[in-house]
Amino acid sequence: MEYNDLYINGTWTKGTSGARFDVINPATEEVLASVASADIADADAALDAAEAAMKDWAARTPRQRSEVLRRAWELMTGRLEEFAHLITLENGKARADAMGEATYAAEFFRWFAEEAVRADGMITHAPSSGARIVVQHKPAGLAVLITPWNYPAAMGTRKIAPALAAGCGVIIKPASETPLTMLALMPLLEEAGVPAGLVNVLPSRKTGSLVDHMLHDPRVRVVSFTGSTGVGQKLLKGAADQVLKPAMELGGNAPVIVFDDAAMDTAIEGTMLAKMRNLGEACTAANRIYVHENIAEEFTKQLSARMSALKVGDGTDPSVDVGPLVNADTRDKVAEFVSDAVAKGAKIECGGTPPDGKGFYYPPTVLSNVPENAACVRDEIFGPVAAIQTFTDQEDVIARANDTEYGLVAYVFSEDFKRALQVCERLDYGMVGLNRGLVSDPAAPFGGVKQSGLGREGGHEGMLEFMETQYISASW
Ligand code: NAP
Repeated sequence: MEYNDLYINGTWTKGTSGARFDVINPATEEVLASVASADIADADAALDAAEAAMKDWAARTPRQRSEVLRRAWELMTGRLEEFAHLITLENGKARADAMGEATYAAEFFRWFAEEAVRADGMITHAPSSGARIVVQHKPAGLAVLITPWNYPAAMGTRKIAPALAAGCGVIIKPASETPLTMLALMPLLEEAGVPAGLVNVLPSRKTGSLVDHMLHDPRVRVVSFTGSTGVGQKLLKGAADQVLKPAMELGGNAPVIVFDDAAMDTAIEGTMLAKMRNLGEACTAANRIYVHENIAEEFTKQLSARMSALKVGDGTDPSVDVGPLVNADTRDKVAEFVSDAVAKGAKIECGGTPPDGKGFYYPPTVLSNVPENAACVRDEIFGPVAAIQTFTDQEDVIARANDTEYGLVAYVFSEDFKRALQVCERLDYGMVGLNRGLVSDPAAPFGGVKQSGLGREGGHEGMLEFMETQYISASW
């Protein structure tokens, strides 16, 4: 791999400690690359670089910042295949999923190129005093960005693009499983015109202490994290000391509700997408599938037929639909969820047996009759297992769907729009897919409620996460 060192101040460095760690190809279990591991001194160098670069960047006009981002979108769009290949190599996901991710990742540059020039403020008369209320948005300061392994490109660009649009400098800590894609993006950003030092990438095996150190540097004002709720809670505690602006995109436990008036084709297609995009390794993945008893048998039959028709294998083969899971732990956890559900009474409709041999594969699996006490309906499965339960009563299914500490996304399938919208409004989720299995869109505010997170990425809200609101009370 060409880019496997730390990227600080626009240059590649092996880091102060010289330590390295291996990145494994999940399809072959072979070492793909040896990557430099950042230490505290490297974090300080990155913070110095970002602080210096941000002075000039924040002073540029919004249009100038916008044009750099636009160029990044153009360049990335021209290299989607290259990025998709790298994503598949380090994460395992199949080619179509990787192309989908690369496209989605590039779109954040285009969307925030458009948003960079729309940090609208406000001016109004104070109702009683007669003063003017002038409201404007300013770059918040240096941002520490921490990303997970399931979307090695998109979870990074979803943070970098709005931060740069807002005028901030950033330090990114990519997941140790998949640091290569983010590193490979850096030459592209240079070519687009991002000044040296504005974006720094620090892979590290000393994750906890490195990030904690940065969260306590007085120059840092924002921490933007995507990952598990447990780590998000730790970061929120760390962020409290300096009262940083937190953006937290955390875990999910998405319910899918299929009413008996749903269009069966739409419901099957949507459930396949919600379950199998990224082979289930997504915070938005369908985790609990509630199907009305009247249509449960037919739904289960059709879903099982679709799931068992998927081809499993090395994601670099373009005919493969489902690649390996990211590592052995993730695969073993999925297998445990299935064994636990079966031991408690669930029935395996298809799949359920991981193949022998190299690679962290788990087959697309459908479970029916999944009991409420099965672990897979309480925790994120993060794998290609569809857990089906049934319902008859609308109130009951709403209560069951809301009965979780998570609140990222829910999906509803019904052709009765009055009912469907009433149900959507009563779901305690930051996002709802109505007759759709996909909600992610750079133009929409992505994010959760309850323990699924704080703040929104994408949409108009995404850039404001990296800005502070200033109000000037003026008389003239
Ligand atoms: P994770 O274990 O929480 O790791 C995410 C990132 O946090 C990695 O870069 C990891 O670094 C870092 N990290 C781990 N411990 C840390 C600590 N003590 N302090 C600071 N950083 C730390 O999550 P994951 O397993 O990579 O990703 C899966 C999770 O992400 C799932 O829960 C999923 O739902 C969630 N997710 C949420 C969204 C969303 O938008 N809501 C999107 C995608 C994924 P190392 O790799 O070096 O450990």
